[in-house]
Amino acid sequence: MNVHDSERLTGLLEDAGYQAAQNTEADIVVFNTCAVRENADNKLYGNLGILREKKLENPNLQIAVGGCLAQKDRETIVKKAPWVDVVFGTHNIGSLPALLERARHNNEAQVEILESLETFPSDLPTKRDSTYAGWVSISVGCNNTCTFCIVPSLRGKEKDRRPGEILAEIQALVDDGVVEITLLGQNVNTYGVEFGDRGAFAKLLRACGEIDGLERVRFTSPHPAAFTDDVIEAMAETHNVMPQLHMPLQSGSDRILKEMRRSYRSEKYLGILDRVRAAMPNAAISTDIIVGFPGETEEDFLETMRVVEQSRFAVAYTFQYSKRPGTPAAELPNQLPKEIVQERYERLLALVNRIAWEENQKQVGRTVEVLVANNEGRKDEQTNRISGRSEDNRLVHFDVPAGSPMPRPGDMVTITITAAAPYHLLADQADGSVYSLRRTRAGDAWDRAEAASCAVPAGDTTAKSVSLGMPGQKPEHAHH
Ligand code: SF4
Repeated sequence: MNVHDSERLTGLLEDAGYQAAQNTEADIVVFNTCAVRENADNKLYGNLGILREKKLENPNLQIAVGGCLAQKDRETIVKKAPWVDVVFGTHNIGSLPALLERARHNNEAQVEILESLETFPSDLPTKRDSTYAGWVSISVGCNNTCTFCIVPSLRGKEKDRRPGEILAEIQALVDDGVVEITLLGQNVNTYGVEFGDRGAFAKLLRACGEIDGLERVRFTSPHPAAFTDDVIEAMAETHNVMPQLHMPLQSGSDRILKEMRRSYRSEKYLGILDRVRAAMPNAAISTDIIVGFPGETEEDFLETMRVVEQSRFAVAYTFQYSKRPGTPAAELPNQLPKEIVQERYERLLALVNRIAWEENQKQVGRTVEVLVANNEGRKDEQTNRISGRSEDNRLVHFDVPAGSPMPRPGDMVTITITAAAPYHLLADQADGSVYSLRRTRAGDAWDRAEAASCAVPAGDTTAKSVSLGMPGQKPEHAHH
Protein backbone atom coordinates (compact mmCIF):
# COMPACT_ATOMS: atom_id res chain seq x y z
CA MET A 1 0.00 0.00 0.00
CA ASN A 2 2.76 2.36 0.98
CA VAL A 3 4.87 1.66 -2.08
CA HIS A 4 1.86 2.19 -4.30
CA ASP A 5 1.16 5.49 -2.48
CA SER A 6 4.74 6.49 -3.35
CA GLU A 7 3.96 5.85 -7.01
CA ARG A 8 1.03 8.24 -6.63
CA LEU A 9 3.15 10.89 -4.93
CA THR A 10 5.63 10.70 -7.80
CA GLY A 11 2.80 10.96 -10.34
CA LEU A 12 1.32 13.99 -8.55
CA LEU A 13 4.65 15.80 -8.43
CA GLU A 14 5.38 15.07 -12.09
CA ASP A 15 1.94 16.38 -12.97
CA ALA A 16 2.76 19.56 -11.08
CA GLY A 17 5.90 19.99 -13.20
CA TYR A 18 8.58 18.47 -10.99
CA GLN A 19 11.12 15.97 -12.30
CA ALA A 20 12.70 13.07 -10.47
CA ALA A 21 16.30 13.87 -9.50
CA GLN A 22 18.77 11.61 -11.29
CA ASN A 23 22.16 11.61 -9.59
CA THR A 24 21.75 15.28 -8.82
CA GLU A 25 20.96 17.18 -5.67
CA ALA A 26 17.22 17.21 -5.13
CA ASP A 27 15.30 20.40 -4.35
CA ILE A 28 12.49 18.46 -2.72
CA VAL A 29 12.72 15.36 -0.57
CA VAL A 30 9.51 13.53 0.34
CA PHE A 31 9.39 10.84 3.03
CA ASN A 32 6.49 8.43 2.75
CA THR A 33 6.55 6.83 6.21
CA CYS A 34 5.07 3.54 7.40
CA ALA A 35 4.17 3.22 11.07
CA VAL A 36 3.86 -0.55 10.79
CA ARG A 37 7.62 -0.81 10.54
CA GLU A 38 9.69 -1.04 13.65
CA ASN A 39 11.53 2.14 14.66
CA ALA A 40 9.94 4.15 11.87
CA ASP A 41 10.23 7.29 13.99
CA ASN A 42 13.92 6.86 14.86
CA LYS A 43 14.77 6.24 11.24
CA LEU A 44 12.78 9.27 10.14
CA TYR A 45 14.37 11.65 12.64
CA GLY A 46 17.82 10.29 11.79
CA ASN A 47 17.23 11.03 8.12
CA LEU A 48 15.75 14.44 8.87
CA GLY A 49 18.86 15.25 10.91
CA ILE A 50 21.08 14.51 7.93
CA LEU A 51 18.90 16.67 5.68
CA ARG A 52 19.15 19.60 8.06
CA GLU A 53 22.78 20.05 7.00
CA LYS A 54 21.75 19.96 3.35
CA LYS A 55 19.18 22.60 4.00
CA LEU A 56 21.79 24.92 5.48
CA GLU A 57 23.74 24.55 2.23
CA ASN A 58 20.67 24.93 0.02
CA PRO A 59 17.95 27.09 1.61
CA ASN A 60 15.59 26.26 -1.28
CA LEU A 61 15.52 22.61 -0.33
CA GLN A 62 12.03 21.56 0.75
CA ILE A 63 11.33 18.56 2.96
CA ALA A 64 7.91 16.89 3.18
CA VAL A 65 6.85 14.05 5.48
CA GLY A 66 3.75 12.00 4.73
CA GLY A 67 2.27 8.56 5.34
CA CYS A 68 1.15 6.74 8.47
CA LEU A 69 3.73 8.14 10.85
CA ALA A 70 2.86 11.68 9.82
CA GLN A 71 -0.82 10.88 10.32
CA LYS A 72 0.02 9.63 13.82
CA ASP A 73 2.62 12.15 15.01
CA ARG A 74 1.60 15.27 13.06
CA GLU A 75 2.66 18.27 15.22
CA THR A 76 5.53 16.40 16.92
CA ILE A 77 7.33 16.22 13.60
CA VAL A 78 7.58 20.01 13.19
CA LYS A 79 8.36 20.34 16.87
CA LYS A 80 11.24 17.88 16.71
CA ALA A 81 12.40 18.90 13.25
CA PRO A 82 11.35 22.52 12.66
CA TRP A 83 13.21 22.55 9.33
CA VAL A 84 10.53 20.32 7.81
CA ASP A 85 8.34 22.25 5.33
CA VAL A 86 5.28 20.05 4.90
CA VAL A 87 3.55 17.35 6.95
CA PHE A 88 0.64 15.54 5.30
CA GLY A 89 -1.38 12.46 6.24
CA THR A 90 -2.69 9.29 4.66
CA HIS A 91 -6.00 10.84 3.65
CA ASN A 92 -4.74 13.85 1.74
CA ILE A 93 -1.73 12.85 -0.35
CA GLY A 94 -3.35 14.75 -3.21
CA SER A 95 -2.59 18.04 -1.42
CA LEU A 96 1.19 17.63 -1.49
CA PRO A 97 1.94 19.92 -4.48
CA ALA A 98 -0.30 22.68 -3.06
CA LEU A 99 1.25 22.36 0.40
CA LEU A 100 4.78 22.63 -1.01
CA GLU A 101 3.70 25.72 -2.92
CA ARG A 102 2.13 27.28 0.18
CA ALA A 103 5.15 26.50 2.35
CA ARG A 104 7.38 28.24 -0.19
CA HIS A 105 5.09 31.23 -0.52
CA ASN A 106 4.35 31.75 3.18
CA ASN A 107 7.81 30.68 4.23
CA GLU A 108 6.46 28.53 7.05
CA ALA A 109 5.76 24.87 7.66
CA GLN A 110 2.39 23.56 6.48
CA VAL A 111 0.77 20.77 8.46
CA GLU A 112 -2.39 19.31 6.98
CA ILE A 113 -3.92 16.07 8.21
CA LEU A 114 -7.45 14.96 7.41
CA GLU A 115 -9.38 12.52 9.59
CA SER A 116 -10.96 10.70 6.71
CA LEU A 117 -10.53 10.18 3.04
CA GLU A 118 -12.08 12.75 0.69
CA THR A 119 -11.38 11.25 -2.71
CA PHE A 120 -10.30 7.70 -3.43
CA PRO A 121 -6.53 7.93 -3.94
CA SER A 122 -6.50 5.89 -7.14
CA ASP A 123 -8.02 8.81 -8.99
CA LEU A 124 -4.74 10.67 -8.53
CA PRO A 125 -2.05 10.53 -11.20
CA THR A 126 0.38 7.67 -10.74
CA LYS A 127 3.93 7.18 -11.92
CA ARG A 128 4.16 3.39 -12.18
CA ASP A 129 7.43 1.67 -11.41
CA SER A 130 6.88 -1.21 -13.78
CA THR A 131 5.95 -1.55 -17.44
CA TYR A 132 4.54 -5.07 -17.10
CA ALA A 133 2.94 -5.26 -13.63
CA GLY A 134 0.72 -2.87 -11.73
CA TRP A 135 -1.07 -2.54 -8.43
CA VAL A 136 -4.72 -1.60 -8.41
CA SER A 137 -6.37 -0.45 -5.16
CA ILE A 138 -9.80 -1.89 -4.58
CA SER A 139 -10.25 -0.64 -1.03
CA VAL A 140 -8.44 1.37 1.60
CA GLY A 141 -8.75 1.23 5.39
CA CYS A 142 -9.91 -1.68 7.53
CA ASN A 143 -12.93 -2.37 9.74
CA ASN A 144 -11.12 -4.99 11.83
CA THR A 145 -9.42 -4.26 15.11
CA CYS A 146 -6.47 -6.66 15.36
CA THR A 147 -4.86 -5.66 18.62
CA PHE A 148 -1.29 -5.54 17.28
CA CYS A 149 -2.16 -3.38 14.28
CA ILE A 150 -1.93 0.36 13.85
CA VAL A 151 -3.59 0.37 10.41
CA PRO A 152 -7.23 0.99 11.45
CA SER A 153 -6.35 4.07 13.47
CA LEU A 154 -4.22 5.56 10.69
CA ARG A 155 -5.98 4.45 7.54
CA GLY A 156 -9.55 4.63 8.84
CA LYS A 157 -12.63 2.57 8.06
CA GLU A 158 -12.80 0.50 4.90
CA LYS A 159 -13.70 2.44 1.77
CA ASP A 160 -14.51 0.42 -1.32
CA ARG A 161 -13.88 1.62 -4.79
CA ARG A 162 -16.64 0.88 -7.29
CA PRO A 163 -16.07 -2.15 -9.55
CA GLY A 164 -16.51 -0.10 -12.73
CA GLU A 165 -13.68 2.25 -11.76
CA ILE A 166 -11.41 -0.64 -10.82
CA LEU A 167 -12.02 -2.44 -14.09
CA ALA A 168 -11.50 0.76 -16.06
CA GLU A 169 -8.13 1.27 -14.38
CA ILE A 170 -7.12 -2.31 -15.12
CA GLN A 171 -8.16 -1.90 -18.76
CA ALA A 172 -6.11 1.29 -19.03
CA LEU A 173 -3.08 -0.51 -17.57
CA VAL A 174 -3.52 -3.42 -19.98
CA ASP A 175 -3.81 -0.97 -22.89
CA ASP A 176 -0.43 0.39 -21.77
CA GLY A 177 1.17 -3.05 -21.97
CA VAL A 178 0.71 -4.37 -18.41
CA VAL A 179 0.13 -8.16 -18.27
CA GLU A 180 -0.05 -8.70 -14.49
CA ILE A 181 -2.09 -6.86 -11.91
CA THR A 182 -2.31 -7.22 -8.15
CA LEU A 183 -5.55 -6.14 -6.52
CA LEU A 184 -4.74 -4.32 -3.33
CA GLY A 185 -6.67 -3.83 -0.10
CA GLN A 186 -6.14 -4.21 3.66
CA ASN A 187 -8.75 -6.94 3.66
CA VAL A 188 -9.86 -7.81 0.13
CA ASN A 189 -12.48 -10.34 1.28
CA THR A 190 -14.70 -7.70 2.81
CA TYR A 191 -14.65 -5.77 -0.46
CA GLY A 192 -18.25 -4.77 -1.14
CA VAL A 193 -19.38 -4.17 2.48
CA GLU A 194 -19.63 -0.50 1.78
CA PHE A 195 -22.00 -0.92 -1.18
CA GLY A 196 -23.76 -3.96 0.19
CA ASP A 197 -22.56 -6.80 -2.04
CA ARG A 198 -20.99 -9.71 -0.18
CA GLY A 199 -20.10 -11.49 -3.40
CA ALA A 200 -18.32 -8.45 -4.83
CA PHE A 201 -14.78 -9.77 -4.58
CA ALA A 202 -15.48 -13.07 -6.35
CA LYS A 203 -17.36 -11.13 -9.05
CA LEU A 204 -14.41 -8.80 -9.46
CA LEU A 205 -12.04 -11.74 -9.97
CA ARG A 206 -14.35 -13.20 -12.60
CA ALA A 207 -14.62 -9.83 -14.32
CA CYS A 208 -10.81 -9.71 -14.50
CA GLY A 209 -11.02 -12.95 -16.46
CA GLU A 210 -12.91 -11.12 -19.19
CA ILE A 211 -10.16 -8.58 -19.84
CA ASP A 212 -8.32 -9.42 -23.05
CA GLY A 213 -4.55 -9.35 -22.75
CA LEU A 214 -4.53 -9.52 -18.96
CA GLU A 215 -2.47 -12.65 -18.26
CA ARG A 216 -2.01 -12.70 -14.51
CA VAL A 217 -4.20 -11.57 -11.64
CA ARG A 218 -3.10 -11.69 -8.00
CA PHE A 219 -4.44 -10.05 -4.85
CA THR A 220 -3.32 -9.14 -1.37
CA SER A 221 -4.29 -9.44 1.41
CA PRO A 222 -7.20 -11.71 2.18
CA HIS A 223 -8.36 -12.38 5.75
CA PRO A 224 -9.13 -15.93 6.91
CA ALA A 225 -12.20 -14.80 8.83
CA ALA A 226 -13.89 -13.39 5.75
CA PHE A 227 -12.54 -15.81 3.14
CA THR A 228 -15.48 -17.57 1.50
CA ASP A 229 -15.83 -20.48 -0.90
CA ASP A 230 -17.22 -18.32 -3.71
CA VAL A 231 -13.74 -16.71 -3.86
CA ILE A 232 -12.05 -20.12 -4.09
CA GLU A 233 -14.42 -21.07 -6.93
CA ALA A 234 -13.80 -17.80 -8.73
CA MET A 235 -10.03 -18.28 -8.39
CA ALA A 236 -10.14 -21.81 -9.75
CA GLU A 237 -12.54 -21.02 -12.58
CA THR A 238 -10.97 -17.78 -13.81
CA HIS A 239 -8.17 -18.57 -16.26
CA ASN A 240 -5.90 -15.63 -15.43
CA VAL A 241 -6.23 -15.68 -11.62
CA MET A 242 -2.95 -17.24 -10.53
CA PRO A 243 -2.68 -20.38 -8.38
CA GLN A 244 -1.20 -18.46 -5.50
CA LEU A 245 -2.59 -17.21 -2.22
CA HIS A 246 -1.15 -15.12 0.59
CA MET A 247 -3.17 -16.07 3.66
CA PRO A 248 -2.01 -14.42 6.90
CA LEU A 249 -2.04 -16.87 9.83
CA GLN A 250 -0.39 -14.73 12.56
CA SER A 251 -0.71 -17.47 15.19
CA GLY A 252 -1.73 -21.12 15.30
CA SER A 253 -2.99 -20.83 18.88
CA ASP A 254 -6.72 -20.23 19.19
CA ARG A 255 -6.18 -18.48 22.51
CA ILE A 256 -3.67 -16.06 21.00
CA LEU A 257 -5.86 -15.47 17.94
CA LYS A 258 -8.58 -14.43 20.34
CA GLU A 259 -6.19 -12.08 22.15
CA MET A 260 -5.22 -10.68 18.77
CA ARG A 261 -8.94 -10.15 18.09
CA ARG A 262 -8.79 -12.25 14.94
CA SER A 263 -12.05 -14.11 14.74
CA TYR A 264 -11.03 -17.31 12.88
CA ARG A 265 -9.50 -20.33 14.61
CA SER A 266 -6.77 -22.71 13.43
CA GLU A 267 -9.27 -25.34 12.29
CA LYS A 268 -11.07 -22.89 10.06
CA TYR A 269 -7.74 -21.70 8.70
CA LEU A 270 -6.57 -25.21 7.81
CA GLY A 271 -9.97 -25.94 6.25
CA ILE A 272 -9.58 -22.97 3.90
CA LEU A 273 -6.17 -24.23 2.78
CA ASP A 274 -7.60 -27.70 2.14
CA ARG A 275 -10.38 -26.32 -0.02
CA VAL A 276 -8.00 -24.03 -1.92
CA ARG A 277 -5.74 -27.00 -2.68
CA ALA A 278 -8.65 -29.23 -3.64
CA ALA A 279 -9.70 -26.60 -6.20
CA MET A 280 -6.14 -25.66 -7.27
CA PRO A 281 -3.75 -28.56 -6.63
CA ASN A 282 -0.66 -26.55 -7.58
CA ALA A 283 -1.49 -23.48 -5.52
CA ALA A 284 1.44 -22.00 -3.60
CA ILE A 285 0.35 -20.57 -0.28
CA SER A 286 2.30 -17.98 1.69
CA THR A 287 1.63 -16.42 5.08
CA ASP A 288 2.60 -13.97 7.83
CA ILE A 289 3.28 -15.14 11.37
CA ILE A 290 3.96 -13.18 14.54
CA VAL A 291 6.02 -14.87 17.27
CA GLY A 292 5.97 -13.73 20.88
CA PHE A 293 2.64 -11.93 21.09
CA PRO A 294 2.11 -10.80 24.72
CA GLY A 295 1.20 -13.77 26.92
CA GLU A 296 2.20 -16.41 24.32
CA THR A 297 3.15 -19.60 26.18
CA GLU A 298 5.30 -22.46 24.96
CA GLU A 299 2.05 -24.41 24.32
CA ASP A 300 0.67 -21.55 22.24
CA PHE A 301 3.87 -21.45 20.26
CA LEU A 302 3.78 -25.21 19.66
CA GLU A 303 0.29 -24.73 18.24
CA THR A 304 1.78 -22.32 15.71
CA MET A 305 4.46 -24.90 14.88
CA ARG A 306 1.76 -27.55 14.42
CA VAL A 307 -0.35 -25.42 12.10
CA VAL A 308 2.74 -24.40 10.10
CA GLU A 309 3.77 -28.04 9.73
CA GLN A 310 0.31 -28.88 8.40
CA SER A 311 -0.02 -25.84 6.16
CA ARG A 312 3.02 -26.54 3.94
CA PHE A 313 3.70 -22.88 3.14
CA ALA A 314 5.75 -22.03 0.07
CA VAL A 315 6.86 -18.89 1.87
CA ALA A 316 6.26 -17.66 5.43
CA TYR A 317 7.13 -14.14 6.49
CA THR A 318 7.94 -14.43 10.17
CA PHE A 319 8.09 -11.54 12.60
CA GLN A 320 9.01 -11.08 16.22
CA TYR A 321 6.24 -9.25 18.02
CA SER A 322 7.21 -5.72 18.90
CA LYS A 323 5.05 -3.07 20.49
CA ARG A 324 3.46 -0.41 18.34
CA PRO A 325 2.50 2.54 20.53
CA GLY A 326 -1.18 3.28 20.09
CA THR A 327 -2.22 -0.37 19.64
CA PRO A 328 -4.14 -2.31 22.35
CA ALA A 329 -1.55 -5.11 22.44
CA ALA A 330 1.16 -2.65 23.46
CA GLU A 331 -0.71 -2.16 26.76
CA LEU A 332 -1.11 -5.87 27.54
CA PRO A 333 0.66 -7.35 30.56
CA ASN A 334 3.02 -10.28 29.96
CA GLN A 335 5.14 -8.76 27.24
CA LEU A 336 7.70 -11.48 26.61
CA PRO A 337 11.44 -11.10 27.16
CA LYS A 338 13.50 -10.79 23.98
CA GLU A 339 15.44 -14.07 24.58
CA ILE A 340 12.28 -16.16 24.65
CA VAL A 341 10.91 -14.53 21.51
CA GLN A 342 14.26 -14.91 19.75
CA GLU A 343 14.53 -18.59 20.63
CA ARG A 344 11.01 -19.37 19.41
CA TYR A 345 11.57 -17.30 16.31
CA GLU A 346 14.65 -19.35 15.41
CA ARG A 347 12.77 -22.62 15.86
CA LEU A 348 9.95 -21.35 13.66
CA LEU A 349 12.36 -20.07 11.02
CA ALA A 350 14.10 -23.47 10.84
CA LEU A 351 10.71 -25.11 10.33
CA VAL A 352 9.43 -22.71 7.64
CA ASN A 353 12.74 -22.91 5.79
CA ARG A 354 12.69 -26.70 5.84
CA ILE A 355 9.12 -26.84 4.52
CA ALA A 356 9.76 -24.20 1.85
CA TRP A 357 12.73 -26.21 0.63
CA GLU A 358 10.77 -29.48 0.59
CA GLU A 359 7.95 -27.82 -1.32
CA ASN A 360 10.41 -26.31 -3.81
CA GLN A 361 12.06 -29.70 -4.37
CA LYS A 362 8.68 -30.98 -5.53
CA GLN A 363 8.85 -28.41 -8.34
CA VAL A 364 11.92 -30.00 -9.95
CA GLY A 365 10.96 -31.47 -13.30
CA ARG A 366 7.88 -29.28 -13.74
CA THR A 367 7.64 -27.09 -16.82
CA VAL A 368 6.45 -23.61 -15.91
CA GLU A 369 5.83 -20.27 -17.51
CA VAL A 370 7.87 -17.43 -16.05
CA LEU A 371 7.18 -13.72 -16.37
CA VAL A 372 10.60 -12.12 -16.82
CA ALA A 373 11.39 -9.53 -14.14
CA ASN A 374 13.78 -6.65 -14.55
CA ASN A 375 15.58 -6.43 -11.29
CA GLU A 376 14.78 -9.36 -9.08
CA GLY A 377 17.22 -11.72 -7.45
CA ARG A 378 20.67 -12.19 -8.84
CA LYS A 379 21.72 -11.71 -12.40
CA ASP A 380 24.79 -13.75 -13.03
CA GLU A 381 26.84 -12.30 -15.90
CA GLN A 382 28.78 -15.53 -16.38
CA THR A 383 25.90 -17.95 -16.69
CA ASN A 384 23.67 -15.34 -18.29
CA ARG A 385 21.06 -16.19 -15.69
CA ILE A 386 18.04 -13.96 -15.36
CA SER A 387 14.99 -14.07 -13.10
CA GLY A 388 11.25 -14.04 -13.06
CA ARG A 389 8.15 -15.37 -11.34
CA SER A 390 6.27 -18.52 -12.19
CA GLU A 391 2.48 -18.58 -12.16
CA ASP A 392 2.45 -19.62 -8.50
CA ASN A 393 4.76 -16.66 -7.79
CA ARG A 394 7.91 -18.67 -7.12
CA LEU A 395 11.18 -16.91 -7.93
CA VAL A 396 12.98 -18.69 -10.80
CA HIS A 397 16.50 -18.08 -12.12
CA PHE A 398 17.11 -19.43 -15.59
CA ASP A 399 19.70 -19.23 -18.33
CA VAL A 400 19.12 -18.35 -21.95
CA PRO A 401 20.43 -20.76 -24.61
CA ALA A 402 23.44 -19.47 -26.53
CA GLY A 403 22.35 -17.55 -29.60
CA SER A 404 18.81 -16.92 -28.35
CA PRO A 405 17.70 -13.32 -27.99
CA MET A 406 17.52 -12.02 -24.43
CA PRO A 407 13.94 -11.90 -23.19
CA ARG A 408 12.81 -8.44 -22.20
CA PRO A 409 11.22 -7.69 -18.82
CA GLY A 410 7.55 -8.55 -19.30
CA ASP A 411 8.18 -11.34 -21.81
CA MET A 412 7.23 -14.93 -20.94
CA VAL A 413 9.55 -17.92 -21.05
CA THR A 414 8.62 -21.57 -20.65
CA ILE A 415 11.30 -23.58 -18.87
CA THR A 416 11.80 -26.76 -16.87
CA ILE A 417 12.84 -26.53 -13.22
CA THR A 418 16.14 -28.36 -12.69
CA ALA A 419 17.09 -27.53 -9.08
CA ALA A 420 15.60 -26.06 -5.93
CA ALA A 421 16.78 -23.93 -3.01
CA PRO A 422 14.49 -22.88 -0.12
CA TYR A 423 13.56 -19.56 -1.70
CA HIS A 424 14.30 -19.88 -5.39
CA LEU A 425 14.27 -22.38 -8.25
CA LEU A 426 16.80 -22.91 -11.02
CA ALA A 427 16.25 -23.87 -14.65
CA ASP A 428 19.57 -24.59 -16.34
CA GLN A 429 20.11 -25.61 -19.96
CA ALA A 430 23.05 -27.75 -18.94
CA ASP A 431 20.73 -29.81 -16.75
CA GLY A 432 18.21 -30.33 -19.54
CA SER A 433 15.77 -27.46 -19.10
CA VAL A 434 13.56 -26.78 -22.11
CA TYR A 435 13.40 -23.15 -23.13
CA SER A 436 11.01 -21.18 -25.24
CA LEU A 437 10.40 -17.47 -25.38
CA ARG A 438 7.10 -15.70 -25.97
CA ARG A 439 7.46 -12.03 -26.71
CA THR A 440 4.61 -10.04 -25.13
CA ARG A 441 3.02 -6.62 -25.33
CA ALA A 442 4.63 -5.95 -21.96
CA GLY A 443 8.04 -6.60 -23.51
CA ASP A 444 7.17 -4.15 -26.28
CA ALA A 445 6.14 -1.61 -23.64
CA TRP A 446 9.52 -2.09 -21.99
CA ASP A 447 11.26 -1.36 -25.32
CA ARG A 448 9.21 1.80 -25.73
CA ALA A 449 10.00 2.97 -22.19
CA GLU A 450 13.70 2.33 -22.72
CA ALA A 451 13.64 4.20 -26.01
CA ALA A 452 11.79 7.11 -24.40
CA SER A 453 14.38 7.36 -21.65
CA CYS A 454 17.07 7.44 -24.37
CA ALA A 455 18.96 4.65 -22.65
CA VAL A 456 19.07 2.37 -25.68
CA PRO A 457 17.39 2.30 -29.06
CA ALA A 458 14.10 0.38 -29.15
CA GLY A 459 14.63 -3.18 -30.22
CA ASP A 460 18.07 -3.67 -28.68
CA THR A 461 17.10 -6.71 -26.67
CA THR A 462 20.58 -7.33 -25.31
CA ALA A 463 20.37 -4.13 -23.30
CA LYS A 464 21.49 -4.46 -19.71
CA SER A 465 20.46 -1.01 -18.59
CA VAL A 466 17.55 -1.13 -16.18
CA SER A 467 15.83 1.83 -14.66
CA LEU A 468 12.35 0.68 -13.77
CA GLY A 469 11.39 -1.28 -10.68
CA MET A 470 8.76 -3.92 -10.11
CA PRO A 471 6.18 -4.13 -7.38
CA GLY A 472 7.59 -7.25 -5.79
CA GLN A 473 8.70 -6.13 -2.34
CA LYS A 474 8.30 -8.51 0.53
CA PRO A 475 6.08 -7.17 3.29
CA GLU A 476 8.15 -5.58 6.03
CA HIS A 477 5.75 -6.47 8.76
CA ALA A 478 2.81 -8.78 9.12
CA HIS A 479 -0.36 -6.80 9.47
CA HIS A 480 -3.31 -8.78 8.25
S1 SF4 B 1 -3.92 -6.71 10.65
FE1 SF4 B 1 -4.98 -6.41 8.68
S2 SF4 B 1 -7.10 -7.08 9.15
FE2 SF4 B 1 -6.13 -6.72 11.14
S3 SF4 B 1 -6.62 -4.59 11.67
FE3 SF4 B 1 -4.63 -4.58 10.62
S4 SF4 B 1 -5.12 -4.14 8.48
FE4 SF4 B 1 -7.04 -4.84 9.45
